[in-house]
Amino acid sequence: MGKIAVLDDNMINMIAAGEVIERPASVVKELLENSIDAGAGKITVEIEDGGRAMIRVIDDGGGMDAGDLALAFEPHATSKIRTSEDLGGIRTMGFRGEALASVGSVAKVTIISRMADSIGAHRIEIDCGQKSEVRPCSGDVGTTIEVRNLFYKLPARRKFLRTPATEMSHITEHFSRIGLAHNSLDLTLRHNGKEVHRLLSGQGVAERIAVLFGEALASDLLETSRAERGMQIQAFLAKPFAARASSKYQYLFLNRRFIRDKFILHAVREAYRGLMEPSKYPVVFLFMQMPPENYDVNVHPTKVEVRFDNSNLVHSEVLAVLRDKLLSTNLDVGGMVPRGDFSADESLDLSTVFESDSRKERIQQAMKDFFDKPASAQPQRTFSFKPTHSGPKPSAGSPVGVPLPDMPDFQPESVSENWLVKEFLQVHNSYILLQSEEGFVVIDQHALHERILYEQMCRRLREGTLVSQRLLMPHSFEVTNAQLEVYEGQKDLFEKLGIELEPFGPNTLAVQAFPALLEKAEPVEFVKEMLDKLVEEGGQADEERLLHEILDMAACKAAIKAGQALSAEEIAKLLKDKDIVQRTSRCPHGRPTTITFSLKELEKQFKRTGF
Ligand code: ADP
Ligand code: MG
Repeated sequence: MGKIAVLDDNMINMIAAGEVIERPASVVKELLENSIDAGAGKITVEIEDGGRAMIRVIDDGGGMDAGDLALAFEPHATSKIRTSEDLGGIRTMGFRGEALASVGSVAKVTIISRMADSIGAHRIEIDCGQKSEVRPCSGDVGTTIEVRNLFYKLPARRKFLRTPATEMSHITEHFSRIGLAHNSLDLTLRHNGKEVHRLLSGQGVAERIAVLFGEALASDLLETSRAERGMQIQAFLAKPFAARASSKYQYLFLNRRFIRDKFILHAVREAYRGLMEPSKYPVVFLFMQMPPENYDVNVHPTKVEVRFDNSNLVHSEVLAVLRDKLLSTNLDVGGMVPRGDFSADESLDLSTVFESDSRKERIQQAMKDFFDKPASAQPQRTFSFKPTHSGPKPSAGSPVGVPLPDMPDFQPESVSENWLVKEFLQVHNSYILLQSEEGFVVIDQHALHERILYEQMCRRLREGTLVSQRLLMPHSFEVTNAQLEVYEGQKDLFEKLGIELEPFGPNTLAVQAFPALLEKAEPVEFVKEMLDKLVEEGGQADEERLLHEILDMAACKAAIKAGQALSAEEIAKLLKDKDIVQRTSRCPHGRPTTITFSLKELEKQFKRTGF
């Protein structure tokens, strides 16, 4: 006896609906996308009861005739693609032909539509798969789709719906994404008769961000763009100090479609590396354009994921545009230099020293000041240093494994023997200056040390040689139940990192041993933060990523601070480690730690300024 039967269309649609239509917000998203594909200029979304009672989308787009209406609810009915070749270059929001069929199988839907050249409109209804005839009726040019009683024949799904306020916040989120990506459209969102958002056509993106997320967030954004290697990127990014505790304000759009992409989010994190607490999420709005032939959107039913033909290119372009902007911007806030790793009272007030507004200019100015001053007025921290190292010549090339932003003549330096130097100088307790054959280099002491620690930890973890040091006294501290729980679940991770942690009475843990490499970090503070991070991730992060985030955090915490005076020995050690680490590094990361100034560049500068 055969057990296999082919499912009927309505069952197929209901199953598809399970993938595409999760909640009212998914309906809103699909309907908005259809209106955009229909060439609408004005779209109004009306919601009742968080979408549970009703969702109505009214557009002034191209509309459908009677024949199209009869087909619109059929599974795999689409006007947007015809052949498999079309799949290679999708230019519309939809193409799978499942949205209307799905919604029609799980709700009561009415469509009224009229094409521009038609004298009247037509109407069709569908009630959980039961279609009516198409009938003529009156109506404006465009399409109105009304969805009532979503999931009413699927109590299990209906029970899953949250409060109207929660469902509405999901709807608003989808509406906002569309609004950001399509700023030429006039868009309105209403809930229970009240206007939630009105976005006027022709608003700039920055203006829309202000309307949707508030003036405070919008006014702090930096804007930048880049068009290279077949990719156009427009970015609005917040300064590092405005980073958030969640990834909510990380908006990525590819050809006006909101997407989530691990590679791109990684590039964003990299761009901010060393500039803020690694556990935070920078605020970014990225609008990318590239030929649709260069990626595949047909990876996931909701099309929120894409597959790039060349994800490395995307990664490096995003990293470049963001980092370029961050490095050329004065990131000071109220006279303080926000750096994730030191508190306000330790921080260094550079604003009076560095008045020009780009980092490059600030450094140049500081250099000029230094060389301008009479010898007696110069800082007293000049040391001699003969490197003990005499290994093979390190390979040339950039120490950061990613393409660097365009900064002609200011390329981050690779370590080479030509600057195994005689003299160095610490300025403002933050930068180290060295003479090189071509000119001189400026090293950011915190960034460099952070990078060294990160690389060393990576390597020792790989080799299993991360040495931990027993503390003289166990450092005990109180923990919450949630922290205790993640500690129980992640003992391996602590062990791997060389952190020995043991229960020490009720709701108390004690650090018994701590990695020697992190000697500058405070063990309890570090472990607490790590536990918080684990609690926050809720056991969801993949282990590899988590580990790297923790290494990031560790490096940032244990690194020499900006504003910290260093002895000659400490500087010498730093420079020696730089050499060793970079020759052996296999996980290159991050922003430049070193900037080279060539003699050529200096000559140019000084001539221009009359020297
Ligand atoms: P898809 O968008 O993937 O093509 P849908 O199920 O969302 O599939 O829609 C099916 C078809 O119905 C679309 O291809 C389009 O031709 C038509 N359609 C849907 N919504 C509208 C609208 N608002 N205006 C005009 N045509 C529409
Ligand atoms: Mg569609």
